[in-house]
Amino acid sequence: MSGLSNSGVIGVLDLQGGVQEHLDHLQRLGVASRPVKRAEELAALAGLIIPGGESTCLSRLLTIFGLREAIEERWRQGLQLWGTCAGAILLARENAGETPFFGLIDITVSRNAFGSQMDSFNCEALAPAVAREPIPLTFIRAPKILRAGPGVRVLLELDGYIAAAEDDRALVTIFHPELTPSLAFHRYFARKCGLRVAEADDAALDPAWTPQSWTRFSYHS
Ligand code: GLN
Repeated sequence: MSGLSNSGVIGVLDLQGGVQEHLDHLQRLGVASRPVKRAEELAALAGLIIPGGESTCLSRLLTIFGLREAIEERWRQGLQLWGTCAGAILLARENAGETPFFGLIDITVSRNAFGSQMDSFNCEALAPAVAREPIPLTFIRAPKILRAGPGVRVLLELDGYIAAAEDDRALVTIFHPELTPSLAFHRYFARKCGLRVAEADDAALDPAWTPQSWTRFSYHS
């Protein structure tokens, strides 16, 4: 771990993709969070979510804004990372037929492995390490995780592919928990970042939650 103090704040990379939805879920959990656009904003974060969106676009913006090296440096110092969908593609060590980006977790991904945008789908599955109840899952032109290396724990395996995995420093999910009512993966990541988060019935926390609920918050001053 680094000498940098852990502020207890989780950042969400705010260059492109599903940013507000992650901030909304962290806020529902009672976890302090902030959007991250600049390298300076990585200081003292407990964790960083790299959201879903479009991995090529995100990789270019990460390079243009000088965030690539800054994130790698903070990861070496102990920053926990969570990549959802495009974020998982960026974190993977191998990207079938393409050049990997960060390569920080020993997995192989295959982009757009379910087909076109029209082949996006919802389902539910039990991930016992993450929650006792089945978790709703939303896949949007998702990659598949084809391989997990020896240091990687598989958290959810579906029909012949891995859908969620982690090592000691990074979590990857090929689906979008931030687009469902469930807070299970956000709670799991917050705990992985060393934060104390109470167990609760997610629906009871906010029975009126809808996928548009994040619009009730204003994050940018
Ligand atoms: N298909 C996108 C990509 O390859 C990922 C989609 C997503 O993040 N929902 O980057």
